[in-house]
Amino acid sequence: MSVNVYFAAGAAHWPAYRAPLEQALAEAGVEAVLSDSVDRPEEVDYIVFSPGGEISDFGPYRNAKAVLNLWAGVENIVGNATLTQPLCRMVDPAMTEGMVEWVVGQVLRHHLGTDLHVLNQDGIWRHDRAVPPIARERPVAMLGLGALGQACGQALAALNFPVTGWSRSQKEVPGIRCLSGRAGLDEALSGAQIAVLLVPLTAETENLLDARRIALMAPGAFVVNPGRGPLIDDAALIAALDGGQLAHATLDVFREEPLPPAHPFWAHPKVTVTPHVASETRPATAARVIAENIRRGETGAPFLHQVDRTRGY
Ligand code: NAP
Repeated sequence: MSVNVYFAAGAAHWPAYRAPLEQALAEAGVEAVLSDSVDRPEEVDYIVFSPGGEISDFGPYRNAKAVLNLWAGVENIVGNATLTQPLCRMVDPAMTEGMVEWVVGQVLRHHLGTDLHVLNQDGIWRHDRAVPPIARERPVAMLGLGALGQACGQALAALNFPVTGWSRSQKEVPGIRCLSGRAGLDEALSGAQIAVLLVPLTAETENLLDARRIALMAPGAFVVNPGRGPLIDDAALIAALDGGQLAHATLDVFREEPLPPAHPFWAHPKVTVTPHVASETRPATAARVIAENIRRGETGAPFLHQVDRTRGY
């Protein structure tokens, strides 16, 4: 029997996702009718979703077996009281690769002090710097050891950065010193020269990086945030940059997106703003994850990457 799959992830995404989804569903052996519009919501079996998509009230989709999010983060949907169906987030192997590239790129930029030369092509031969540290002398705190944090942490460890990872539950990840719990967070940040934030936004993680925790880091440390904007106390961050405790912050995510043109981050000399581009879901690989979850739903197997609503991620 054929299943009805409703693509409710925004009209702008439909052209890029339609063919990959059709192909992935066929490869998974799922007979499906895929559509970007519905007349009878009660006949929809699976909803492919992203925040800002077509649905805010899931009530009419009362027979849907799952809502399959195209994004990794679910903070804008997990609290929707009308959403009673299983909710799955996206763990896309290509998005993970893209995040590894972005995080390693930002960490190496700060580690190597690349800006000094790239931004000053002015005829001055700046050869008077002290010998810079090599990676093994530059401790990194990786906050979050999920799909993305583990991959990024291991890539940095492979370059010899001493990586301390932090997560809610205790982990064992080759090459990474793993800590958990609130005390573990303080220990992970203590003396860190670079902190990378890859935890989800939940009630527990808001303002995770506050003034007290920033002060635990090594003087002149760097912050790289591809996680979510509210993970950082913005006022504390600016104070730490102005006071010299932090040397630079590279921020990809913000409390308000797009970041308003008048926001102080844009003009701050020690802040780099990127417009939520650290890594995006890629249609070809994400379609396979969606199709596999529909196949699982139809065969009674547990869904991949199902969100735990009580945890919020
Ligand atoms: P994930 O697999 O769910 O991993 C989340 C990690 O954070 C896990 O290690 C989890 O601990 C930890 N964590 C959650 N709450 C915690 C808490 N209260 N205390 C300590 N650790 C906690 O998520 P992911 O796929 O790696 O993605 C992480 C985040 O990256 C997403 O939620 C999203 O916000 C962001 N993201 C951004 C972009 C971008 O382009 N900027 C792209 C994709 C994703 P456990 O392992 O114990 O559960």
